[in-house]
Amino acid sequence: MTTLVNQQIVLASRPTGEATLDNFRLVESSVDPDALAEGQVLVRNHYLSLDPYMRGRMNEGKSYAQPQPLGEVMIGGTVGEVIASRNPRFAVGDRVVGMGGWQQYQLVEAHQREVLRKVDTTHVPLTAYLGAVGMPGVTAWVGLHTIVEPKAGETVVVSAASGAVGGVVGQLAKAKGCRAVGIAGGPEKCAFVTDELGFDACVDYKAHRDLKSLAQALKAACPDGIDGCFENVGGLVLDAVMLRMNAFGRIALCGMISGYDGQPIPMANPALILVSRLKLQGFIVSEHMPLWPAALGELGAMVAAGRLKYRESIAQGLASAPEAFLGLLKGRNFGKQLVKLT
Ligand code: NDP
Repeated sequence: MTTLVNQQIVLASRPTGEATLDNFRLVESSVDPDALAEGQVLVRNHYLSLDPYMRGRMNEGKSYAQPQPLGEVMIGGTVGEVIASRNPRFAVGDRVVGMGGWQQYQLVEAHQREVLRKVDTTHVPLTAYLGAVGMPGVTAWVGLHTIVEPKAGETVVVSAASGAVGGVVGQLAKAKGCRAVGIAGGPEKCAFVTDELGFDACVDYKAHRDLKSLAQALKAACPDGIDGCFENVGGLVLDAVMLRMNAFGRIALCGMISGYDGQPIPMANPALILVSRLKLQGFIVSEHMPLWPAALGELGAMVAAGRLKYRESIAQGLASAPEAFLGLLKGRNFGKQLVKLT
């Protein structure tokens, strides 16, 4: 094999306010598949996953994750194929999932034992390992099972319901015998949530711009109130849900995407936590590693059996990644946002 050109996208600058295309830069390096050191593995990345957490890492200050260093390849989950290996654990042709970053090829060092995982694509498509059978799916599983803890007959609401995490939350809640209600932006996404994913109802928050109107729409969709909430958005959406929560309701605070670009997201009625005796708990999926095997096993079996549905938005080529990522933060994606790299 000849030396390969590896296109990469690095973080060029940190956003001030909204992230922009100028924050990213496309660079090239080279990689020689015939010059691997003992233990190294070279992967050709087929798909890159774009995820909301990347926005937090572009900022300087530490949140729950370290900031992304300037000038380095943007972090990101990938699926691909081993194209050269001097590691007995991986053979050429193996399909793998890893954290390959925003680049075409990933060179994995011998000591990086946990960064690559072989996957079976017989019954589960390769891209699903970045979505329903990957980190987003496990996020849904962990938040639902450890915080929301829904019981049959209860009502569970999830925001960003057509997305990678939200779509799985509602289907898992339905499988537990709950009433699943989504919140999503626009009639097309809402129709997908009910007609394709099988939720009982979906509220289009873009058709209800103020708290009173959104809370009213939720009341109609949740006639028995809300027992569990899986929150991905924050701000007005969370305020409206809190107004409709039943006593002793549980809220898994998974994400607050409406504030990721720096918008203020105050909570309108924090006293409701007391008055309605709510449990509101944040969580980070990477801090629940012991639960991943069980979650991945269950999610993989559901996808293989056609009992867990999902949708993907696929941008073409590495150069399209920044634009697709900015679109994700504005809800332009419809389902799991991926970038096809091959
Ligand atoms: P999605 O596939 O759901 O895509 C993001 C969606 O968020 C958009 O499609 C859009 O849907 C919605 N959105 C974007 N901007 C806004 C806004 N300003 N106001 C309201 N909605 C908005 O992403 P994921 O499923 O990957 O992630 C969902 C959430 O889960 C995020 O908040 C993410 O940070 C969080 N997360 C948390 C993890 C954890 O460990 N705690 C791990 C993984 C994800 P719409 O058009 O319907 O508004």
